[in-house]
Amino acid sequence: MEFMSDMLGGADAGKPSVFELVAQTKMTELLEPALRHITSVYAHRYPRYLIRILNLHEEVYAAVMLVVERHYLRNYGGSFTEHFYGMKRVRTRTIGGSKALTGGNVWGSLVFLVGLPLVKSRLDQYYDKISGGDAARLLGGAFAQERHIEADADVEDGAGVRADIRRRLVRLLAVARQLFQRFYPHVNFAYHLSTALYYVAYMFDRTGYSSPWLHVLGLQMRRLSAADYRAMDMRTGDTSGLAAAPNGSVLRGLRNIVARLLGGGLDVLRVALPLAIFFYRFLEWWYRSDFHQRVQQKPVPPPPMPLRPHPDGVGVPVDQTVCALCGRPRTNPAMLPTGFVFCYPCIHRHVADAGTCPVTLTLATVGDIRKLYADA
Ligand SMILES: [Zn+2]
Repeated sequence: MEFMSDMLGGADAGKPSVFELVAQTKMTELLEPALRHITSVYAHRYPRYLIRILNLHEEVYAAVMLVVERHYLRNYGGSFTEHFYGMKRVRTRTIGGSKALTGGNVWGSLVFLVGLPLVKSRLDQYYDKISGGDAARLLGGAFAQERHIEADADVEDGAGVRADIRRRLVRLLAVARQLFQRFYPHVNFAYHLSTALYYVAYMFDRTGYSSPWLHVLGLQMRRLSAADYRAMDMRTGDTSGLAAAPNGSVLRGLRNIVARLLGGGLDVLRVALPLAIFFYRFLEWWYRSDFHQRVQQKPVPPPPMPLRPHPDGVGVPVDQTVCALCGRPRTNPAMLPTGFVFCYPCIHRHVADAGTCPVTLTLATVGDIRKLYADA
């Protein structure tokens, strides 16, 4: 029982449990695909503006999160999801009697919150590209190597000093690429292993740091206390008393209003982003379950009845493979919207001359004729 209460952070009420930290990380990982999904849905509707954003999605997302996370770190002492789970970051060393984050701590946190995931995702993509992606995983490394040899062969021709330098540069890049290809999986493994080890050590109280990045920054996670919430309320209360701001400085007043509007917008995200994740999860479930298929599967309606042949028309031949116009077996079958099929040359000539369907005598143009690719 003691062990369980330790896992739940029972001994130190301010220490978040591993479960809270993992949940927080999972939520961070869900934000990006959720927003990407919503962007791609709207990109279908407004492709002119959103396709560009979609192509640069990771960079745009990083830029947006830089603003969001900076706002939350500065005002609430934790990242967006950390604050959502009622946590904050504190310095392990007190400076001036306070453990609150300094400007340097905020930027250091941003490097690991926004910069590192972006760089890692780019490196992952690059590794997938040079190692041949899924094809190489299935067919073995030979597939990827063949592609490189092909690429290198392109620059092997040419003479002179410049070509020589180029050739050397290409070879150097090839060596760098090979080294990267060889060692990146190990780096990646170390990355995941270190975070896992930190979680375990944190769970057994061997370290106060829940991740290697926080250790580097000298920051620890704490639960938000009642005093923290009161302090936050006080601060938002302070800024609302804008009328009492020192008089004379119109510019500062304006700046305050802009900052408050921006801050208010960013605070709305506390509701909007979790809703986006919920929406994304719902869509995921919706498309994966057979529930939506059951809703969408309506019985196929009967085809519309063909128009009745006009008494003054050419009439429908008894043999359905015969063209009503020439009386011979159809060649190059073509159809009118009325549903009757003729030889293409016959119906083209007839419609060009008479402008009607020969059977029903309804109006038709040459543009209405549809070629049939399976002989009826
Ligand atoms: Zn014909």
